[in-house]
Amino acid sequence: MTKLGFIGLGIMGGPMAAHLAAAGHDVSGYDVSADATAKLEAAGGRRAAGVGEAVADAEVVITMLPNHPHVEEVVLGPGGVLESAKPGTLLIDMSTIRPETSIEVAKTALDKEIRVLDAPVSGGQAGAEQAALSIMVGGEAADFAAALPLFELVGKTVVHVGPHGAGQVVKAANQLVVGGIYGLVAEAIVLLEASGVDAGTGLDVLAGGLAGSRILELKRESMVARRFEPGFRIDLHHKDMGIALAAARQADVSLPLTGLVAQLIAAGRAMGYGSLDHSALLKVTEGLSGYTRVKE
Ligand code: NAD
Repeated sequence: MTKLGFIGLGIMGGPMAAHLAAAGHDVSGYDVSADATAKLEAAGGRRAAGVGEAVADAEVVITMLPNHPHVEEVVLGPGGVLESAKPGTLLIDMSTIRPETSIEVAKTALDKEIRVLDAPVSGGQAGAEQAALSIMVGGEAADFAAALPLFELVGKTVVHVGPHGAGQVVKAANQLVVGGIYGLVAEAIVLLEASGVDAGTGLDVLAGGLAGSRILELKRESMVARRFEPGFRIDLHHKDMGIALAAARQADVSLPLTGLVAQLIAAGRAMGYGSLDHSALLKVTEGLSGYTRVKE
């Protein structure tokens, strides 16, 4: 049994913390939302009154927060993880944030003898609920090995991808591929429908051939039916495309398609679709042609 502090019990962190508690670990959780901590208590965890209380006795601390300012506040801020956790603690940040913050956190933590891994995930809410996430981990190999039994309780594909920040770079690559495929599936739907071809039937064929993908497999039906409840919100994908473009600049490379996809997602947000699922990129593509589906 490991003593765990878990900060950020939202769509992803909530079910992840519940799996860890169900496996017999002692999970002390904190979230600014009282509802979220109450859910953890109902799932067998303990409710902490703040970050300090959640991490004071912990051997491992996990954070699952929206973006880098939240991680900076919770980890580096006054009363945060680095001030409150014991030397020797392993801090695993599973939020999707910019790689430079992960690197800065790891460097700052060294002085406090706190070890750090960046371990963003892919697989969405369903992946979190079914303990089937893909986890891409940056940091020291020995720390990865120590954390692996915990990762295996929430994920199916768990890979050590390199040093601090590498997990975030792999996640940025994941998000640009996902965004690009959504954009192209949206264009395929608009082309098929505007040409008078049944989009569902057309995409069934695509899904079985070289154009097949997990997105076509899981999302073609809901996209053709225009069901866009999240899932993964456009607002969060917008944040992730910003991370991908900043990482490209940092690496001195040009990623033109990523730039285009980032603009389409930004358009979705500007058009008021920020809280819809990222498959709502289809609404942006329709808008570019002034296209409205004629329902039979
Ligand atoms: P969420 O908004 O549902 O959860 C974040 C939680 O953090 C919230 O409950 C919020 O109250 C809490 N929080 C914010 N600031 C806090 C603070 N200072 N102290 C304590 N708690 C605080 O978001 P989510 O969908 O669970 O996403 C979390 C991370 O995982 C994000 O970085 C996101 O990009 C990434 N992610 C999400 C998905 C998805 O499908 N939702 C998939 C993969 C990765």
